[in-house]
Amino acid sequence: MKENVYEKEKIYMGRLPQGSDVLVSLGEIAKKNGIKSGQIQLIGAVQCAVVGYYDQDNMVYKTLRLEGHYEVLCLTGNISLKDEEPFIHAHVVLGDAKGICYGGHLMEGTRVFAGEYIVREFVGEEMKRVFDEKTGLYLW
Ligand code: ZN
Repeated sequence: MKENVYEKEKIYMGRLPQGSDVLVSLGEIAKKNGIKSGQIQLIGAVQCAVVGYYDQDNMVYKTLRLEGHYEVLCLTGNISLKDEEPFIHAHVVLGDAKGICYGGHLMEGTRVFAGEYIVREFVGEEMKRVFDEKTGLYLW
């Protein structure tokens, strides 16, 4: 088990472009700033969403497509390196017009209506993902 300790951080605050893909845009922020380990937070609204659920028995993601508009009540995630590239792992809780929530592993296909992010870069040793046979996932 690997654990890194960081004593310095750099914080980025901003807004994602309307119509952009949430996951892709967050990845671009990480790449542009060379973030090798960090934390993500975002609130706002999306025009549609795609979230995943990891089927532990079959070791595959099941995809849930949510058409329509949702509030992003909570998006939390991390940045680390996978194959030497910044990789975003984020989970999201979305609320509909009645306040009913859906959520899951953030996937491509989630479109920004408005998205305010705070990204924390942890300065120091990079965090890397490697394939884990027990889960079928790339983990720290
Ligand atoms: Zn996940």
